[in-house]
Amino acid sequence: MTATTTLILGGGFGGISAANSLRRLLPGEHAITVIDGSSHFHVGAGKTWIMLGERTYEEISRARTELLDPGVRFIEANIVGLDLSKRTVATDKETLRWDRLVIALGADLNLDRVPGLAAAHTFYTVEGAQRLRAVLERFAGGEIAMLIPKVPFKCPPAPYEAAILLHHALESRGLAGKARIAIYTAEGAPMATAGPEMGQYIKEELSRRRIGFHPLKTVTKVDGSARRVVFEDGGEAPYDLLIAVPPHEAPQVVRDARLTGPSGWIPVDPRTMQVKAPPGTSGVYAVGDITAVPLPGRYKPDVGLSLPKAGVFAEAQGRAVAHQIAAGILGRAPAETFEGKGFCYLELGARRAVRADGAFFELPHPVMQKRMPDEAQFRDKLDWVAQHLRPVR
Ligand SMILES: Cc1cc2nc3c(=O)[nH]c(=O)nc-3n(C[C@H](O)[C@H](O)[C@H](O)COP(=O)(O)OP(=O)(O)OC[C@H]3O[C@@H](n4cnc5c(N)ncnc54)[C@H](O)[C@@H]3O)c2cc1C
Repeated sequence: MTATTTLILGGGFGGISAANSLRRLLPGEHAITVIDGSSHFHVGAGKTWIMLGERTYEEISRARTELLDPGVRFIEANIVGLDLSKRTVATDKETLRWDRLVIALGADLNLDRVPGLAAAHTFYTVEGAQRLRAVLERFAGGEIAMLIPKVPFKCPPAPYEAAILLHHALESRGLAGKARIAIYTAEGAPMATAGPEMGQYIKEELSRRRIGFHPLKTVTKVDGSARRVVFEDGGEAPYDLLIAVPPHEAPQVVRDARLTGPSGWIPVDPRTMQVKAPPGTSGVYAVGDITAVPLPGRYKPDVGLSLPKAGVFAEAQGRAVAHQIAAGILGRAPAETFEGKGFCYLELGARRAVRADGAFFELPHPVMQKRMPDEAQFRDKLDWVAQHLRPVR
């Protein structure tokens, strides 16, 4: 059997999972290389904790070399070009050739897609969460606007969870009567893909804390000098502190390679994660936030659904892709495909959380099941984060 090279672009949830799973499935002569522009992996969920001053970056991150199987090569380099016909990847250090390719580059965050939005704070990046932490430490009261200007965005519960935890933190500091939080979102309901029950549950949790919820708000601009957000419907939201989920987009390198479809993301087969277009993409897979995964079910006949962007899905897709690639190389049938199953935790403050489990390929529409919130589910979330930071070597 001829030795092959699998290149994995991006060493986040999807890339690490694909690399480690594939290493276990393939004999050592088949090379597996992960390329990422930064040396350290971090858990997305930890950024909310950084914002609240509960953890540092060091506590939510780990060197990728410690998380990757010793039989996987890691290259720290920025990917600058992808040539599908030559089957090469150009980085700022070297150009590499692939036999199989896994694209796991995540989503880029771009505040500039909305005029004036650069004035907002964000906890969606590590640096943003660190800056916001310092601002919140000095915050003595006023209007906090949480803005979700575009969909899709990663971890659909995250802004709602952040608002609830922020409310809890302000209450603990005796600022409950002096601060008001309101969420303005382009979505029709929180976690819309997870179904009406999940949305209703979150709305009730917000309302219990008097956190304002304003759906279907399309932002025209942010007027930083007047401290107000202007919406297409003529409405305005005044703020003393503006926190935004930055608009997401596929990284430039895959847009340049014309791998993105009309949704702006890479279209893939929902079970194998094989890239659908353009021609010349045989042996090319994509996983995680960078993909658009159409769902078979829907809530309204004319509205299609896409799989939410989350680490749990990226990870499961990475495993499924490893099985596809190994099966192709070893001449067997793949033992696993992506089944559209995942879960999320919604933290509610005071060491309580609720876990919701979802089957997103279910018909007639995705289903999410949850239990009553408690401390055991909060501890499960801590374990889930810790698991992702545990060295494999
Ligand atoms: C506040 C917050 C809370 C969250 N909570 C949860 C949660 O509780 N559960 C959950 O499942 N998900 C959660 N998520 C979402 C989760 O973090 C993402 O969905 C997940 O990281 C996606 O994995 P990925 O492999 O697709 O991309 P990523 O993990 O983002 O990895 C992409 C990698 O590609 C690299 N890269 C990109 N472009 C280049 C380039 N040109 N050259 C070299 N390297 C490049 C990046 O450095 C990065 O390491 C949360 C996200 C946020 C922001």
